[in-house]
Amino acid sequence: MLKLRLLNAVAPAYFFTATAVTFILHFGFFVPTIFPNPDMSLRGSTALHTALFLFLMFNALGNYVMTIRYPAESANETAIPVCSPHCSDKVDAHYLLNGRHFCKLCKKVILKRDHHCFFTGNCIGNRNMRYFIMFCIYTSCVCLYSLVLGVAFLTVEYSISFQNPLTFLTLLPLSTGYFFMGTVSGLQLFLVLMLYVWLGIGLVCAGFCCQQVLLVARGQTWCQLQRGQLVENCSPWRANLKDVFGTRWILGLVLPVQTVETSPDGTDPPKQD
Ligand SMILES: [Zn+2]
Repeated sequence: MLKLRLLNAVAPAYFFTATAVTFILHFGFFVPTIFPNPDMSLRGSTALHTALFLFLMFNALGNYVMTIRYPAESANETAIPVCSPHCSDKVDAHYLLNGRHFCKLCKKVILKRDHHCFFTGNCIGNRNMRYFIMFCIYTSCVCLYSLVLGVAFLTVEYSISFQNPLTFLTLLPLSTGYFFMGTVSGLQLFLVLMLYVWLGIGLVCAGFCCQQVLLVARGQTWCQLQRGQLVENCSPWRANLKDVFGTRWILGLVLPVQTVETSPDGTDPPKQD
């Protein structure tokens, strides 16, 4: 349990550090180097890049906040399971009946629970799944966009050519070797390392997001999939997507806002079947 609690604290710290580093690299190094002394011809490109980067970052961070602000629906159950000494040290260990799930970290019985996200530090369920998916999409976009600008920066600043497809594969081992020989600066090695971090996070988020959208369309949760449970609901995929993304889903694609009508107490309205 200590490992899980530690992960729950370390993952958000890692997320905020990576976000801050990305911000500093963009505005401290990439923009001034790729677009130096912007004359009239480059001023438009600089503004376009800055606007696009801020738009992607705003949506990634906005949906992150919305995922935490609107947590998964929990049941007011007082009889929560007590862990036995033989209970496995897994966050998904307590599956209750009827799609209810006790999360050991959130210490709540969650309805329609999908999984516990360590980066947001809370459970992902029916109410915050839409923000979580948008958070994954925009995080993936920010990372892949940063990767492209990082490659451009290394080409402009250090004259590294990426024309050979193998360059990217050999970049990290070669840069590490040259760093210890004293011919590559610490900043250059750090930038090369960040290229791999952005590529890794970008691909993982994109893959994870595709899987979540497929599960939502099938009306299934990750918990049910892991337990090999058949889908109870037989609604068509359009109805399942609308149920999660709400009626104003188009707005949710471009802005981190609520995409469902809410009742005065801030909860989603009951489903009308
Ligand atoms: Zn949880």
